[in-house]
Amino acid sequence: MKTVLITGASRGIGAACAEKFSLEGFDVIINYNRSEKAALELADKLHCRALRADVSDARQVENMFNAIEKVDILVCNAGISDGGKMFCDTTFQDWARIFSVNLGGTVNCIKYALPHMVHEKWGRIVTISSMWGISGASCESVYSSSKAAVIGLTKSLAQELGPSGITVNCIAPGVIDTDMNACYDEATMKELAMAAPLCRTGSPRDVGEAVFFLANQEFITGQVLGVDGGFLL
Ligand code: NAP
Repeated sequence: MKTVLITGASRGIGAACAEKFSLEGFDVIINYNRSEKAALELADKLHCRALRADVSDARQVENMFNAIEKVDILVCNAGISDGGKMFCDTTFQDWARIFSVNLGGTVNCIKYALPHMVHEKWGRIVTISSMWGISGASCESVYSSSKAAVIGLTKSLAQELGPSGITVNCIAPGVIDTDMNACYDEATMKELAMAAPLCRTGSPRDVGEAVFFLANQEFITGQVLGVDGGFLL
């Protein structure tokens, strides 16, 4: 049975990914950081394991991997945003903090997942960027840059790891109904929904389905799949 580790799976998109892989019969491991109660409840519901690690901390990630026999499929989903700021108002701490989770967390987890995948000559890695990582977003320079970096990492690793039988693909979600967008009021969410040709925001499940799809392809690598209702970038 293939084992899938999903980072940031205590809630939102990561939790939806965990539900999908579990439903399809995979051995699921939920990673979480602060939301222990939610993570343990989800693990209980899905009859799977939940492991705490701050993905930005390489030592915690190493400990998490030491507690896991193997990871065949890695979903690097854990991410944070800062709710938006003018570039001039961003601090060096903002840049360090957001990059350490969004890019650093992805790097840390891939580093520790790779030895087993390379040994097996088989592995699937799905990273989570954002449509803002493709287009850039005003007042989201830190977040957008970190998500653009995730795309660069994905494409580079797809080149490097293909000969080892490992695919590396990326999902770029549009506006998805999760806590990450709780900072927006109802009117703004409606406006964002109407900016997409499908006239709605996405659900975590929409993204979970796409992650599952990419993780189960044999001849697709280095791709960035938009799950954004056709949002015109
Ligand atoms: P969310 O509801 O805020 O959930 C974020 C998840 O990431 C939580 O499970 C959280 O775990 C985890 N996390 C945050 N920092 C972590 C850390 N240092 N170590 C381990 N886990 C950490 O966000 P979401 O909307 O589901 O976002 C999931 C991913 O999709 C993110 O990478 C985000 O950038 C991306 N995305 C979201 C949207 C959107 O519109 N929602 C759009 C584009 C891209 P704890 O609560 O346990 O700390």
